[in-house]
Amino acid sequence: MQFVDVIVPLPVAGQFTYAVPEALAGAVCEGGRVIVPFGPKKQYTAIVTRKHTVPPEGYTIKDILEVVDRRPVLLPGQLAFWQWIADYYLCTLGEVYKAALPTGMKEEEGYKPRMEAHVRLTGALRTEEALHAQLDALERAPQQLRLLMKYLELSGWTQPGGPLKEVPQPRLLAEAGVTAAVLHALVKKQVLEVYPYEVGRLRTDGLATVPMHPLNAPQQRAFDELITTFQTKQVCLLHGVTSSGKTEIYIHLIDRALQAGQQVLYLLPEIALTTQITERLRRIFGARLGIYHSKFSDAERVEIWRKQLSEQPYEVIVGVRSSVFLPFQRLGLVIVDEEHETSYKQQEPAPRYHARNAAIVLASQLGAKTVLGTATPSIETYYNAEQGKYGRVCLTERYQHIELPSIERVDIQELHRKKRMNGRFSPYLLQLVREALERQEQVILFQNRRGFAPMVECRTCGWVPRCDRCDVSLTYHKRLDRLTCHYCGATYPVPAACPACGGRELTGRGFGTEKIEDDIQALFPEARVARMDLDTTRTRTAYERIIADFEQGKTDILIGTQMVSKGLDFDRVSVVGILNADAALNYPDFRSYERAFQLMAQVAGRAGRKHRQGRVVLQTRQPELPLIHQVITNDYAQMYRDQLEERRLFRYPPFCRLVDVYLKHRKEEVLEAAAEALALRLRNALGSRILGPDRPPVARVQALFIRKIMVKIEPSVSLPDVREFLLQVQRELLADERFRSLLVYYDMDPM
Ligand code: ADP
Ligand code: ZN
Ligand code: ZN
Repeated sequence: MQFVDVIVPLPVAGQFTYAVPEALAGAVCEGGRVIVPFGPKKQYTAIVTRKHTVPPEGYTIKDILEVVDRRPVLLPGQLAFWQWIADYYLCTLGEVYKAALPTGMKEEEGYKPRMEAHVRLTGALRTEEALHAQLDALERAPQQLRLLMKYLELSGWTQPGGPLKEVPQPRLLAEAGVTAAVLHALVKKQVLEVYPYEVGRLRTDGLATVPMHPLNAPQQRAFDELITTFQTKQVCLLHGVTSSGKTEIYIHLIDRALQAGQQVLYLLPEIALTTQITERLRRIFGARLGIYHSKFSDAERVEIWRKQLSEQPYEVIVGVRSSVFLPFQRLGLVIVDEEHETSYKQQEPAPRYHARNAAIVLASQLGAKTVLGTATPSIETYYNAEQGKYGRVCLTERYQHIELPSIERVDIQELHRKKRMNGRFSPYLLQLVREALERQEQVILFQNRRGFAPMVECRTCGWVPRCDRCDVSLTYHKRLDRLTCHYCGATYPVPAACPACGGRELTGRGFGTEKIEDDIQALFPEARVARMDLDTTRTRTAYERIIADFEQGKTDILIGTQMVSKGLDFDRVSVVGILNADAALNYPDFRSYERAFQLMAQVAGRAGRKHRQGRVVLQTRQPELPLIHQVITNDYAQMYRDQLEERRLFRYPPFCRLVDVYLKHRKEEVLEAAAEALALRLRNALGSRILGPDRPPVARVQALFIRKIMVKIEPSVSLPDVREFLLQVQRELLADERFRSLLVYYDMDPM
């Protein structure tokens, strides 16, 4: 009798054994998918990890129902990688499976290429402007408006960052509570379109390529050093100032790997994956390059996965963090661009992995090398380089000797006191903006997003609308004129009156980028102003249009959040204004200074890239802070020494590892009791390494209350032992009747 061990796409621990009926025995393969029954009624697409003939003991064994693949969809090395992720990040293989495979490859029925009617916006409406106009136009057709809003919600349009999801027609109609006639009306108006859901959308048009730029002398030296370093190190930091030509060096490294018959993975943070960089790589590598982006449809991702298994896989994959899960047949090099970016860490759901660290492990498992590139290394990476664990190559000159921008600080505390501020702008910044506009140069104004989400507030009683299911205030989306929850994506109408006091005056609160846009437009009526933030960049096209307009000089002033700091290369920017450095500095997190430095250095790096020295105005209430001085003098090394000392003192990474233990429950009393009980058990064994339980800043999400316990572990302690201990304590806790429906999960190396 033949048996298989399989992983099911569920957050349950361990693997499951099934019997293979005689008729299917020849078809089953390791790394292939099978359909299995699970529980009384369910069926899942499972992955076979092992074929064997050992019958399991202790339960009645079920048969697999069907074989999906006769050839593996998972390469042998990938399972080892999944196992590492599950072990290190304290989650189940099933959770890794769920995150790794595109939806179309793991759904119960998704295993057959099957046609289903899905709904999407028509091409003409996929810009913010067109969409807003349409929403206005539908004002007198409430059912159609409701359907359209529901589509936006289900597709993930109202949620920041995430991919656009497929929206099946039956689900859309059911959730919107409207009939097919309403949909047909919108189809007739060319707002929505219905299409058969299928795979097969990879770009296949002929792609002409151009030769690489030759490297200049410092770049060539760095390139040679990298190659030498890789003879003795697995990982090398490429620490190069902004605009030094790191990307050119990557291109040469990729070329070298391809000539050796190897594949390359080029990781970028979500936010930096723009047409600018992808087109630059495409011009060189043409059809050998594939892009794996979260705004791609699931069908496209299935296609890329299949192509990577074929005899002609993409040789270079440029992608966001989830591309570490793609199959690679002969990976030789991994490039992690902007390695310091915290968005490499997956927050929700499990596995809560750090794509940079996972990529390093993947590379070492597959015998490949890793380059970590950045102008502002993370403290952890720099520490690893100092310790000799990683190699390090530096590039201190900008390409063509363009000077680094001059950074000047402006004390806005003082100016506020003297009533000389004009809204959020100092007179000096306004003067530089005016001069830049006169010379037909461009300006970037940067506003840290944190704590500045636009909200609505009752003027009378201070009431602020909150999400019904999450412990967060809703943010106001001006153009949609709706309130949206950034946690669950729900949208709500703006109430006509305050539900708390009946007051009729609800006003906007917080200085969002929108407000800055309005103010700057009022100050410079002639200037063409654009804004780049989560609200204006929900679609890939919207994001790219803003960048293209700015690049082509169709915009004079660009206002933005962190997005403007990311690897964009603009030629005519002569002035950058950092409106409020303190927002980043005052964030209660041990990484806040490190991040503030990185953010400001990156934003400043946008100034004066080609023609002349750029100028940066840094507005702050704390001009004497050493960190501000370090930003101004671009003194990374001093920032590093200061921060490292603090971390040594307070026992933070890299001097210890952090694990956040989260508990969730519907009832707050039960949750508190459980959190106390867990903390006590942990404390009994680990003493002062345990902090908490605490209420996290958002203490309730989707109707579940949350508590957090922090564990600090010295590097000398064995990680497998800690994991075993944590899981043991969790089992003991959950054995208590009262805590049966408690959810417990872990965030390893939280960011
Ligand atoms: P970084 O990645 O370090 O910020 P880039 O690689 O983007 O720097 O280089 C900055 C600019 O200088 C880009 O426009 C790039 O095309 C140009 N550049 C850098 N090195 C070269 C080179 N060797 N030949 C031609 N152009 C170069
Ligand atoms: Zn009120
Ligand atoms: Zn919510």
